[in-house]
Amino acid sequence: MELALHGRKLLITGGTRGIGRGIVLAAARAGADVLTCYRQESEAVDSLTAALKETAGDHHVIRADVGDTAEADRLVGEAKDRFGRLDGVVNNAGVISHIPFGELPADEWSRILDTNLTAAYRIIHQALPLLGTGSSVVNIGSRGAAAGIPLRAHYTAAKAAMIGLTRSLAKELGPKGIRVNVVAPGVIETEAFADMPAERAAGLRATYSQKTALARLGTVEELAGPVLFLLSDAAAYITGETLNVDGGI
Ligand code: NDP
Repeated sequence: MELALHGRKLLITGGTRGIGRGIVLAAARAGADVLTCYRQESEAVDSLTAALKETAGDHHVIRADVGDTAEADRLVGEAKDRFGRLDGVVNNAGVISHIPFGELPADEWSRILDTNLTAAYRIIHQALPLLGTGSSVVNIGSRGAAAGIPLRAHYTAAKAAMIGLTRSLAKELGPKGIRVNVVAPGVIETEAFADMPAERAAGLRATYSQKTALARLGTVEELAGPVLFLLSDAAAYITGETLNVDGGI
């Protein structure tokens, strides 16, 4: 199913790889104009830029670290300069690490919360004057935030807090016609699987597949669809929700 986003101006963070890349391309193909960002130069940047050239619309891929306040402000400033307004924001950029809680250093706790939670504050806070009636914010959470995951207390704490942020903002911004929702992915197969040894990837696939009703991992396209739905007018009466996209874990 394709959802029309013709002429919508979107800011999508962390769009050069994985889920973010899937959302950016799906949004561009649905007719949106997209500004996205990344943290470090890589082939993924060139690849996304090339793929976006195949789509119609006004798209921009720029370097900006949303873990840094000045950079996040600059990113939203670019959106203002290029688009004049925003119809949608997707807080997708995220980082993860796996560390036993007893060994988790304070600076790693801060790093993970900074990119996975505080970045959403920075972006929404700065973007607020650009968001009008009918606009939509989608925060990418994690199914693991509700379930809990060993070695990821810092990450799941950040993702669980995204739900509180989302519900409060839904109530505060609802009267202005701004909707705010979470999409919580289960295990989505990204380039990370391709980058690991085949045996390990197959093992992870088998383990996670057993935990889902659909008996498989999700694809970035299957995650992008629900995000586009929440960005679109098809979801005009949905706000404050957490939409689990997890194959029925
Ligand atoms: P990837 O690591 O594959 O891609 C992350 C993207 O975000 C990259 O484009 C990366 O750019 C960018 N990014 C990371 N940090 C920053 C930053 N500080 N500033 C700007 N851009 C940044 O991640 P996934 O696609 O796997 O995950 C995307 C989101 O989905 C995250 O929020 C993650 O927590 C969530 N999620 C993913 C799941 C999965 O199974 N994949 C499951 C549950 C949740 P660069 O290459 O330059 O670093």
